[in-house]
Amino acid sequence: MREPKVALLGMILESNRFSRPADENDFRSLTWLEKEALLDEARAATPSLATEFAAFVRAMDATGPWHPVPCTLAASHPAGPVERSVFETIAGTIENQLAAAGPLDAVYICNHGAMVAEHTHDPDGDLMARVRAAVGPEALIVSTLDLHGNISPKMVDACDLIVGYRTNPHVDMIERGEEAAFCLRRCLASGTRPQLALAKPPIVPASVSLLTAEAPYGELIDYGQRRQAELGGAILNVSVFGNFIFSDTPDNGVSVVVTARSDLETAQQLAAEIAQRAWSERESFVRTLSTVDQAVAMARDPAGPPVIYSDAGDNPGGGGSGKTTELLAALHASGAQDVLYGSFFDPDLAAEAHRLGVGAEFTAVFNRHKGSAAWENWDRKFDAPARVLALHDGDVVGERGMTSGRQMQLGPCAALELNGIRVVVISDRAQTADPVFFHMLGLQIESARCVVVKSRGHFRAGFSRWFAPEQVFEIDTGGLTSPVLERWTFEFIPRPSFPLDPDALWKDTGQG
Ligand SMILES: [Zn+2]
Repeated sequence: MREPKVALLGMILESNRFSRPADENDFRSLTWLEKEALLDEARAATPSLATEFAAFVRAMDATGPWHPVPCTLAASHPAGPVERSVFETIAGTIENQLAAAGPLDAVYICNHGAMVAEHTHDPDGDLMARVRAAVGPEALIVSTLDLHGNISPKMVDACDLIVGYRTNPHVDMIERGEEAAFCLRRCLASGTRPQLALAKPPIVPASVSLLTAEAPYGELIDYGQRRQAELGGAILNVSVFGNFIFSDTPDNGVSVVVTARSDLETAQQLAAEIAQRAWSERESFVRTLSTVDQAVAMARDPAGPPVIYSDAGDNPGGGGSGKTTELLAALHASGAQDVLYGSFFDPDLAAEAHRLGVGAEFTAVFNRHKGSAAWENWDRKFDAPARVLALHDGDVVGERGMTSGRQMQLGPCAALELNGIRVVVISDRAQTADPVFFHMLGLQIESARCVVVKSRGHFRAGFSRWFAPEQVFEIDTGGLTSPVLERWTFEFIPRPSFPLDPDALWKDTGQG
């Protein structure tokens, strides 16, 4: 066949309903690439954009001639609902680019899947529907999504293939981008029109109970892969999405999306089968955290093994501010020694450290400009005598785990010594999932008794070289990503849903 013409686009945001709105600068400062600049970045040695996007482009490059039509890819760090005007700007730009492109064979949409907008619960679905309207019914639309996506019927209706991550921590973005490309190639070559089915058992797990190295979630994903293999070529993809509870939308809940080569009934049966299995395992989708007191005691125990803590209430990767001080203040007050703490998002403090220079001693004031909005409740002011240990410009390439090989710009960074606690201060609100946050400042992981990271789970992949699973603890701290669900008032999540409603029945299928 002639070379396929494939449009490339996406809008990536994981929205935490309780966090501050995502504005234009949130996208401009991370990823906002159009046309040839987008394609060039995807083909760069260490791309700064979403890994699966680059992998899709490379896989298409490697599998024969094609005619890429790069449109727009915009991505923000996780934040609150996107402002309506920003969503309209990006979606409208994409529509215009698609109209200008003329007839297309396919579209690749690189989204996250848990975006909320100020004006709608399902902007991912809206964008996909608008892309479908722009390109017509003939073009194949393939999409990759994060496994924390909240999958809506609208998204499934608009797409011909949905490929979700299968790892949490997320380390399979290259494989999923490639899978989407290979699958698209096969569909185009054979004239296949895939069929999608969606099943949604009413389970809304917190992200801490969605690790794929263990049951129940990992087992469920493996089961889907086994069933796909058993069904031979009838099934193109099985994706089991865990949801992002803090989006608080009517589409929250575990979502099983099955893409069949051609037979809708086969897709529906398998989706229902996996959804039933998830429902029967629902009691396992809960997890107990360690208290701050327990964390302090372990950090001060000279006989204990080295430990790594997730500051679970403040994960910038889930919309957290990156500025809560609860665990830092508790460890500091206890006199704990040999602690690495990363990373505190405070551009003012980083700038001050850069002005003062390495070796300077001063009073470090965290959150000097604390605001009064609800989402800043936990960003308490904290000060302590400090010494500037090291400085860095924050231009780094990820070393391990989710951001391995990815270019990151963290802005001016500093390492501060606070009486035995070495604190990394950064100027971009990023989660500390990669050891490069410490290494860039000369801090060695193996020298610490206790490492604290503002990351919910992705740090497990980045730090697995130093910490076995039994040395990893999630600490129950306050903040915008606290996984203690009883503390939140969810407004839009369908009820009843387990575990918010422990006695929930799944009425749709008469189970429970
Ligand atoms: Zn995710």
